[in-house]
Amino acid sequence: MSKFIKFISLWVLISSALVVHAQTGRVDSLRYWTAPDHTRMVFDLTTPVAHQVFLLANPARLVIDFKHTKLLKALPQPPKNHALFSRVRSGVRNNKDLRVVVDLKATVSPKSFALQPNKNYGHRLVVDLFNKVKAVNTASKKSVKAAKTVTKTVKNKARDIIIAIDAGHGGEDPGAQGPRGTQEKKVVLLIAKKLAVLINKKPGMKAVMVRKGDYYIELRKRMQIARAANADLFISIHADAFKDSTVKGASVFTLSNRGASSEAARWLAKHENAADLVGGVTLTDKDDVLATVLMDLSQTATKEASRNVAGKILKNFKSIGHLHNNNVQKAGFLVLKSPDIPSILVETAYISNPAEERKLKSGKHQSKMARAIYKGIVKYFNQYAPADTYIALNSNKKHTISRGETLSGIAQYYGVSMRSIKSINRLAGNLVIIGQVLKIPKG
Ligand SMILES: [Zn+2]
Repeated sequence: MSKFIKFISLWVLISSALVVHAQTGRVDSLRYWTAPDHTRMVFDLTTPVAHQVFLLANPARLVIDFKHTKLLKALPQPPKNHALFSRVRSGVRNNKDLRVVVDLKATVSPKSFALQPNKNYGHRLVVDLFNKVKAVNTASKKSVKAAKTVTKTVKNKARDIIIAIDAGHGGEDPGAQGPRGTQEKKVVLLIAKKLAVLINKKPGMKAVMVRKGDYYIELRKRMQIARAANADLFISIHADAFKDSTVKGASVFTLSNRGASSEAARWLAKHENAADLVGGVTLTDKDDVLATVLMDLSQTATKEASRNVAGKILKNFKSIGHLHNNNVQKAGFLVLKSPDIPSILVETAYISNPAEERKLKSGKHQSKMARAIYKGIVKYFNQYAPADTYIALNSNKKHTISRGETLSGIAQYYGVSMRSIKSINRLAGNLVIIGQVLKIPKG
């Protein structure tokens, strides 16, 4: 009898060993995505596996242990001259575990998390390495830059209008994909770069690229980058996809009301102790109710500005091709939720439509789209440039005549002579008509 029990238990052991063996995971590949402040390593896994990430000193190494895991083939090495690491090695531990060792060149703080399968990838383990030294450098650079900006402002009394350009997706997130495999993240970065070139050529305007290369930035971080740059406008560039490949055209979005109100509350909760400026008013010394009102006011102005600039860009898209929707659309996109920076999202085309996928890949068409966006932005800021900007101070104001207004009244209002108004507008007499747009000379 006891012999029989022993026999049974032996089999249980063997079969459970077999089960464990069947559940052994496998690392199939590794991708690196290098961002200015961190590098993301993404391991492709056949199943979710238990893992451990830790640092070792002398020499500095990062160790990633995968439990019950095998390696399919040698891991790819990091890009040459990488700022953070020089070499990646791997070995088998305890006959069943995988150890990956990364030789480090800089002090890093690692963070790891698992990713569920999506339409592009299966199970993944993400290890983010934040460069500690670089973070300090960036901070000090920023304060130097801020100091410079202040000097410049004092000296010229005119600042640049800052446009934050956000190319959607990036890195591990390719965005939508076309039938021929074109990736949204790639074409939108190309359009964004072309837009930045146009903006930087314009006196009094400066572009800030939110994403400069092929890496992912969390959505809230994108808004933070725009805020840190003191952006006057945030524009996120995308390309849409739909299951019906005949659907096509461009759309322009602003934030929907519902999304905005909940975010305002969230923003307040998070920042109640921080010195955030909303329309020039510091919120820290106000009570919560007043802060909410200020936030609402600021957000109303922001939404109106967003709608206005979105409408101008949409109009320009109409002239270069098919529009998906004739009106500015609203949606609760997270990247549009800055309470104090007018923000819009442009879906340049449907990458899922074969003809539009071809267009998105064409440099000529990318330039056309960048120019359409650019012209909309310029038109908007010619009308609504903030008072302290170079564009506001170096352009003639415009005045639309409404009922009851006279030339002398207008001259008095702007503090200029009637003669100068007449001369700049080439008016022979003193008569003006309702709806007439007059240039107002600088006083
Ligand atoms: Zn997108």
